[in-house]
Amino acid sequence: ATRILLASRPHGEPTSENFEVQTGPLPEPAEGEVLLRTIYLSLDPYMRGRMSAAKSYAAPVEVGAVMEGGTVSEVVESRDPSLAPGDFVLAYGGWQSHSVHSAGQVRKLDPSRAPLSTAVGVLGMPGFTAYAGLLEIGRPQPGETVVVAAAAGPVGSAVGQIARLKGARAIGIAGGPDKVAFLREIGFDEALDHRSPTFKDDLAAVVPDGIDVYFENVGGHVWDAVLPRLNTYARVPVCGLVAHYNDTELPPGPDRSSRLMQTILTKSLTVRGFIQTEFVKTHYKDFQRDVAQWIADGSLQYKEDVVEGLENAPEAFFGLLKGKSFGKLLVRVGDD
Ligand code: NDP
Repeated sequence: ATRILLASRPHGEPTSENFEVQTGPLPEPAEGEVLLRTIYLSLDPYMRGRMSAAKSYAAPVEVGAVMEGGTVSEVVESRDPSLAPGDFVLAYGGWQSHSVHSAGQVRKLDPSRAPLSTAVGVLGMPGFTAYAGLLEIGRPQPGETVVVAAAAGPVGSAVGQIARLKGARAIGIAGGPDKVAFLREIGFDEALDHRSPTFKDDLAAVVPDGIDVYFENVGGHVWDAVLPRLNTYARVPVCGLVAHYNDTELPPGPDRSSRLMQTILTKSLTVRGFIQTEFVKTHYKDFQRDVAQWIADGSLQYKEDVVEGLENAPEAFFGLLKGKSFGKLLVRVGDD
């Protein structure tokens, strides 16, 4: 079995020094447990937070422990009657070729229902984040304008398409011409490149009636361009701030928080952070039903970026934080 450990905590951008590849014998399942073989490892921006010791909504990965992560895995050996070898499951298997879990900790997948990889993508955590955050906090109404950045990624692409399904105008922001072209292909009303030197003006030009919902995935210069365009009563689901995950200090310049609070006050904004798990009880069933339907009827499209081989996971993860991946980033660890 091969596994990738957190070797040290990064200061700023993570590097290969922060990881260690280790090989060893296969783990053995005890009574009530299963041995899994990883097929896909999901790489997600939240993993940067887990590498850090800073206090957050979830405990950090310990130095010397296997990096955490969602996986699509196959049961190799089962010591529980609920699962049999050959079953496919969604697990929190981590950055490793094999993992052991108690049977109750994994969820069985039906490979005939949807491609297995979607269980960690559009039909899994990122898709659910988009669905619940947009519908519960953003509440897009027909004719309203919804803006989302990291729009070519699994969360953003679902946000824009779901906004359109609810009758809103969707504006996607992404890095580079290929991602912008993709956003247009999947039906975004407008798509903008945040790396363009005229980005601020480009955004102003496509939101003549202002912005009603800004689904915040990134922060940084995108947020700076969006804030003055928000309408009275605009909603801002704060989902992620990936532009800042490698920050080691506050950005330079004057403290602008009083200006921000003033805008929140005078425009009656709703700015609400969330972690998707808080909506599982209330929204997961509806999500599964709606998104499966939208995929089946072609109204929700998704893109995956598959990297081959567990040993390439660190490099792929560094790229994820910098916009190198294009679509839901997965590592194929074993054959499906
Ligand atoms: P993505 O695959 O979209 O990857 C992140 C993208 O962010 C990059 O591809 C890049 O796209 C963009 N980006 C990075 N730096 C910047 C920058 N400085 N300015 C503008 N864009 C930047 O990730 P996901 O779809 O998986 O996640 C999207 C967001 O949602 C993340 O912030 C993540 O942490 C958050 N999230 C939050 C959850 C919650 O429960 N709150 C759950 C799941 C995800 P580009 O090339 O377009 O610049």
